[in-house]
Amino acid sequence: SLVLGIETSCDETAASVVARGPDGVGRILSDVVLSQIAEHSAYGGVVPEIAARAHVEALDGLIKAALAEAGTRLDVVDAVAATAGPGLIGGLLVGLMTGKAIARAAGKPLYAINHLEGHALTARLTDRLAFPYLMLLVSGGHTQLVLVKGVGDYERWGTTIDDALGEAFDKTAKLLGLPYPGGPAVESAARHGDPDRFSFPRPLVGEARLDFSFSGLKTAVRQAAQAIAPVSDQDVADICASFQKAITRTLKDRIGRGLGRYRQLAADLPEAALVVAGGVAANSAIRQMLQALCAEHGVRFVAPPIKLCTDNAAMIAWAGAERLALDLAADPLSVSPRSRWPLDAQAEAVIGYGK
Ligand code: ATP
Ligand code: MG
Ligand code: FE
Repeated sequence: SLVLGIETSCDETAASVVARGPDGVGRILSDVVLSQIAEHSAYGGVVPEIAARAHVEALDGLIKAALAEAGTRLDVVDAVAATAGPGLIGGLLVGLMTGKAIARAAGKPLYAINHLEGHALTARLTDRLAFPYLMLLVSGGHTQLVLVKGVGDYERWGTTIDDALGEAFDKTAKLLGLPYPGGPAVESAARHGDPDRFSFPRPLVGEARLDFSFSGLKTAVRQAAQAIAPVSDQDVADICASFQKAITRTLKDRIGRGLGRYRQLAADLPEAALVVAGGVAANSAIRQMLQALCAEHGVRFVAPPIKLCTDNAAMIAWAGAERLALDLAADPLSVSPRSRWPLDAQAEAVIGYGK
């Protein structure tokens, strides 16, 4: 099958065409992403109004480009998949309405895709991966540990109770006068810093529940910077290195616990795997730690290429293709976007908790 995907939930406008063979093997025929980083960088974060406007301006052209690059046409495509949430409502409206219009005009089924489901299933597009696997999503807006049991079947094991991990990187960078997005800037500054100069908090370490918390870390960074002001470049490097170390140690504790629980649940699972997704997965210190941790637990570590870890439309098209392959019902054209939309039904009941 051939699916057109559309993604507009945050600050990337994206369109893609993905093919799924009868054997379940996926192929990306095109994957066009326009990042709005330049539009938002002056503000140190994503401005919803600017984002929505930029999506409107770019989306039609990107869809045309994605179809052309894939060498296909709308009448050949089997389905249209558009992100319907969670995310910024203005952007979601733009993408979902466009998806509906195309589906209606071309007479194709529409799949309203949960953005988190896109991240969760990406690894099956790039690797042959059996359920159930564990997924760590660490991005600018999300920090979640999810048990992926099947298409549409997810169990959220942990989430952040305050800031997302990428957000913690971005806020720390802003605090230190580093450019936006903060993750890459903090990582490169950390390279020539002393990770042991500052002792930053490691929230929730040792606790049995699998949640995350990062807002205290940002406060500790602010206090450290204030205490030694004016901060030199070396101070910034030391703070970044210490910050990254605290993050890595915290994640190690949380994910290690999650892997233990997963291992217990699937003791004789031959294909046990941990999959990462989200922009923070680009961080090499975090990647190395996860790699080693998985080896320790006898679990395969799967890290899709960075371009597929950050927001893209190939993952949305793929989620549509997986639904189509299972003959799951398409969505009615009356479907509405949802700024909040937890992956699992259980989280649905406690909406408002975490992100
Ligand atoms: P969403 O949360 O909806 O998926 P997003 O745009 O916030 O959307 P991504 O595009 O997946 O998320 O990732 C962006 C985030 O990843 C930013 O917070 C950025 O700072 C962080 N990031 C990128 N590279 C690195 C890195 N090398 N180290 C740490 N964080 C990084
Ligand atoms: Mg982004
Ligand atoms: Fe995302």
